Amino acid sequence: MSAEESPVLPVYLGVDVGGTSVKIGIVDDTGRSLAHGKIATEHEKGPQDGVARILSFARGLLNEAGIVWEDIQALGLGTPGTMNVREGKLLHMPNMSGWNFFPIRNYFQEQSGKPVAFINDGNAAAYGEYWVGRGREHDSLVMVTLGTGVGGGVILQDGALHGDNSHGSECGHIIIDSSPDARVCPCGQPGHLEAYVSATSLVKRAEEQLIAGEASSLAETMEENGSFSALDIANHAEQGDPFAEAIIVETAELLGRGITSIMHIIDPGIVVLGGGVNFGGRESETGKKFLETIRKTVAELTFPVLAENTIIDFATLGSSCGYIGAAGVARKQFGQTS
Ligand SMILES: [Zn+2]
Repeated sequence: MSAEESPVLPVYLGVDVGGTSVKIGIVDDTGRSLAHGKIATEHEKGPQDGVARILSFARGLLNEAGIVWEDIQALGLGTPGTMNVREGKLLHMPNMSGWNFFPIRNYFQEQSGKPVAFINDGNAAAYGEYWVGRGREHDSLVMVTLGTGVGGGVILQDGALHGDNSHGSECGHIIIDSSPDARVCPCGQPGHLEAYVSATSLVKRAEEQLIAGEASSLAETMEENGSFSALDIANHAEQGDPFAEAIIVETAELLGRGITSIMHIIDPGIVVLGGGVNFGGRESETGKKFLETIRKTVAELTFPVLAENTIIDFATLGSSCGYIGAAGVARKQFGQTS
């Protein structure tokens, strides 16, 4: 190993808990991932069992990276759902209710013997992009993550916006439609961004329009399989289906509206788009059109200075952003300052 490739000590253990899997990585002081992997969450076994399996997997990663446990300065832990960051406690975990109200930060600290930084998964992902991803040149960043739901993260001058009740940065739940027939968000409230632009909502909107008689090559897929996915919509758009293209443009316009509102509160240097729903990203025509439409919508709705200066782009770390960001937050809270 050359000097450039040697890990810069100390290292941090980043953990990104999700409903189906937990991503875990060893990250060095410069934000480089030395070893990483994932395990099944198996949430039904409970949080104590989850923590034990995470730590056991982490020891394997350390061996792989040629790092000893003593070189770990701290752990960073990102979790979904609602939480009390100050108390280190989970509140309501979507689809993993056995973890509700568990004091996970202290338990992790006891079991690992290391200090633990605790953060919501949206802010962890945003911190990853801010530290070593697309936002590394910027002092502030907003990340909107499109997946089954819509996640959000806000980083201001090196700190995540938790809010007074740990409910800050929830970009998916800003109101973009106040009409009486607004769509209802999975959180139960009407008109939220997530109710329009998540993968689930996108498919629902497309299905409704097909049932109402819109013509599309997606109709065949629906007939064959009974349904279709956001990825199918992206593929059909890429193959030139006008309906699939139009619904992606509409999604970009709705998202652009939401992003404009967020920009008017935060005024970040950059807005990054993460998550699995990127319509092929910068590698595909559909992805490029999606991004261009968001930029155009924002430019039409925002102040001239922001239209000129605020960068909007895809994230660059992919699904690693969560554990890298969690490690970065641990570094910020417990890193050596010398
Ligand atoms: Zn909501």
